[in-house]
Amino acid sequence: MPWIDQEMCTACEICVDECPVGAIDIEDNGRATIVESDCIRCGRCHDACPQEAVRHDSERIPQEVAANLQWVSKLLDHFQSPSECVAFMARIGRHFNKQKKVIERTLAALNTVGEDTANDLDAAIRSTLESRERRAN
Ligand code: SF4
Ligand code: SF4
Repeated sequence: MPWIDQEMCTACEICVDECPVGAIDIEDNGRATIVESDCIRCGRCHDACPQEAVRHDSERIPQEVAANLQWVSKLLDHFQSPSECVAFMARIGRHFNKQKKVIERTLAALNTVGEDTANDLDAAIRSTLESRERRAN
C-alpha cells in the first residue's frame, strides 16, 4: 500500500481530491495520511502528488523488519531459561515461516490468472480454494 512521507507532504490536498474512495485523511498538523483499511491500492495518489510524498510500499521493508524484530524481542522478555528461549525462537520462526508460505501461495495463485480481470481472479481463487478443500477431504 502507498504511504505518505509526512516530512515531504506540503498539505496541498491534491491526493485527497484524487482518491476515488476517500481513503486519505488530513491530520491535525495539516499533512495527509492514508487510511489503510479504506485504500483500494489504485495508485492515483502516487501519480498525483507533486512532491513525491506518496511513497512505494517497498520502501518500508526495513521498518517492517525492525518492527518484527522489536516484537520478537518484547515477547522474548517473557522467557527466562535458555531452553525456554530456544523453544520460543523455534516457535516464532514457525510463525514467520507460515506467513511466508501464505504469501508464496497467494503469489502463485495470482500468477495463474491469465487476464487481470476481477472475474478471472475470482475464478482462480475459487479454483484454488476448491482444490485445497478436495485435498483436505
Ligand atoms: S498530494 Fe502530496 S503533498 Fe499534497 S497533500 Fe497529498 S501527499 Fe501531501
Ligand atoms: S492508492 Fe488509491 S485508494 Fe489508496 S489512498 Fe491512494 S488514491 Fe486512495
